[in-house]
Amino acid sequence: MILPPSTLGMLGGGQLARFFVIAAHEMGYKVVVLDPDEKSPAGLLADKHLCADFDDYEALNEIAFTCSAVTTEFENVPTSTLESLSKRVTVQPSASAVAICQHRVMEKNFLNDHNFPHVPYAVINSEKDIPATDSRLYPGILKIARFGYDGKGQVRVATADEALTAFKTFSLRQCILERRLSLDYEVSVVLARDSVGNIAAFPTVENAHRDGILDFSIVPARCSLDIHEQTQKLARSVAEKLGFVGTLGVEFFVSDGILYVNEMAPRPHNSGHFTIDACVTNQFEQQVRALCGLPLGNPRLHSKAVMVNLLGDVWDYGKEPEWRVLFSQTGLKLHLYGKHEARLGRKMGHFTVVGHDAEGLLKTAMNIRLEIGIAKTKSSEINNGAVLLELTNAN
Ligand code: ADP
Ligand code: MG
Repeated sequence: MILPPSTLGMLGGGQLARFFVIAAHEMGYKVVVLDPDEKSPAGLLADKHLCADFDDYEALNEIAFTCSAVTTEFENVPTSTLESLSKRVTVQPSASAVAICQHRVMEKNFLNDHNFPHVPYAVINSEKDIPATDSRLYPGILKIARFGYDGKGQVRVATADEALTAFKTFSLRQCILERRLSLDYEVSVVLARDSVGNIAAFPTVENAHRDGILDFSIVPARCSLDIHEQTQKLARSVAEKLGFVGTLGVEFFVSDGILYVNEMAPRPHNSGHFTIDACVTNQFEQQVRALCGLPLGNPRLHSKAVMVNLLGDVWDYGKEPEWRVLFSQTGLKLHLYGKHEARLGRKMGHFTVVGHDAEGLLKTAMNIRLEIGIAKTKSSEINNGAVLLELTNAN
């Protein structure tokens, strides 16, 4: 076991790393953050911020020298960095698990090879692969294999011709073409797995997206017991097959009542932010525990919760939102990430309302969401019929 006051290394300095730093500090650890952004949210709180690239030799050398264990907050960390560090210091999750989650082709092939239910797809390596694609993949979505996030790097395509045009806009970089499902709703499971294979999973979360970005999450998800059980089982099995150690997020689609694994995130997940205020142990403490070889904490949900993301869009021309409205709600927890500039679509913070009356929580969350200027949700933008119904009631 790695015990306090040891120093832990974090690759990446965004909000997920910031919450890791907070959890680690509360437990008595020190944290070194590596991130090239001098104003990174986690770098500002860390004991030491190494402001350098993820393959910077000197910075990695310092991490290997000062840290007892190293983890990451984002899937696009170079696997060569994880590999080289792992020769000198404990690194979790492993380079091989991260490699699968950071590459859509490897990820889909992994799901396919292990018989996990997944959306039908084709790998597009070159222009000539497109005319050969199965017509059942249309209407589809073309997604670049690497570096896509929050709906970026993906285009909806109705025909092979459109897929070809979209492939060119991605400069012919490797892609997957996947069938576009008509979604009943989306859910996710965040869990932690330790190095001896114990798993502590949080309850299944219901997620509403807007323009490809998570808008809000409801927990427990309003789905059948069967979907709850299947998602929990599948998420555990994905973690085991990846040999994953740390906190993992698994995203699912439900379409025509059928469950599909969408993708995995080899790190804490935005849809797991409710765990900070609604669970005995949150997803970031679990990340610290798994990394340090401590027993995993109790993941029990002690309150129901609705989590709402605050994107830069809410900062009207840089003007701060009406925080008073949020603080006047006693069951609401506001989390701001300390980002210096509010850009459209940028995750600036979130709030969670916790309590026991699920319907009341959703109404409160949606009303506040509207009150601080998160534009009214339009049916075309959101993938969740049930939520829409509730939204209409909330107005
Ligand atoms: P990322 O989260 O890395 O940007 P995702 O593949 O999870 O990429 O896509 C983002 C969102 O776009 C999903 O949560 C979902 O709302 C929508 N989406 C993605 N793929 C499909 C699909 N095959 N069918 C329907 N909706 C999809
Ligand atoms: Mg996703």
